[in-house]
Amino acid sequence: RSKRRGHGQVTLYSVDIAEEMKRATQLEQALRRAVIADEVDVLFQPIVDLRTGVPIGFEALARWYDDELGQVSPATFIPLAEERGIIVSLTDVLLKKAARAALSWPHDKYLSFNLSSVQLVDPATHGRIMAVIGEVGLEPARLGLEITETAVMADAAIANNIIDRLHAEGVSISLDDFGTGQSSLGRLREISLDKVKVDRAFVSEITRDRPSEHIVKAIIALCDGLDLEVIAEGIETVEQAAKLLQLGCVFGQGYLYGKPMPAGDVEDLIRASEHYT
Ligand code: C2E
Ligand code: MG
Ligand code: MG
Ligand code: MG
Repeated sequence: RSKRRGHGQVTLYSVDIAEEMKRATQLEQALRRAVIADEVDVLFQPIVDLRTGVPIGFEALARWYDDELGQVSPATFIPLAEERGIIVSLTDVLLKKAARAALSWPHDKYLSFNLSSVQLVDPATHGRIMAVIGEVGLEPARLGLEITETAVMADAAIANNIIDRLHAEGVSISLDDFGTGQSSLGRLREISLDKVKVDRAFVSEITRDRPSEHIVKAIIALCDGLDLEVIAEGIETVEQAAKLLQLGCVFGQGYLYGKPMPAGDVEDLIRASEHYT
């Protein structure tokens, strides 16, 4: 790539942007087709009691495989869906699939679903979520919504109202990726929160890095005081699990307990876990 300054560089730069926009538009069109053709899938990752390994719930994670594009990460297509106005229909499709799968689980296992922060500034969100789970027949108390704080949630009043109303219906609310990004301690007392998910960034360093251990310790103490459940994300080793238990964290998820898996495997895992002690 040319390092020359001046007109030539401006032209190259514009070509790059044009290429980028073209790619995004192709991706958008493919995603729209995939939503209509019902090709976006959902996998489930167990959330377990760290003391026993028994799953208490499952987090739904979106997966999209396109014949031409290959596997596209949700870290790519979820933001694209948010930017291009596809997120509402995508959420409807994904929540419906996930809720249908959850219907066949024992009643004490809940479904945890990631809700886009874009939908937290849309007053129609409460109605849409209740309509989807109502249609499927999943009790609101078996649904958890994972929310993150982003700059988009600038309108905190609308977001709080949507969260309050869902919470009042019995839906539990988790703050995802806690400790990174935009999460502020102040929001912890403003929203009807039930759970906090400690970001993988801290968990992955917890046995190697003193600051990470102290941060997790502080989050656990804070959540104890506020009566919030703590869930550790991204547990990959038994050492990390042991450290978390020692610090008083009782729930977690990560590759150690199971990677995101298809609905059929969830039922096998639940059956197998009935023999854990
Ligand atoms: P998230 O909600 O924080 O989900 C956790 C991510 O960490 C998932 O990545 C999961 O596969 C991965 N993970 C879980 N355990 C481990 C581990 O032990 N090690 C490592 N290295 N990774 C682990 P995934 O599935 O690629 O999803 C990325 C993000 O995309 C999610 O982060 C969430 O923000 C978003 N996302 C996924 N599905 C949906 C969806 O249906 N709706 C919305 N709005 N967002 C979604
Ligand atoms: Mg999540
Ligand atoms: Mg997370
Ligand atoms: Mg995340």
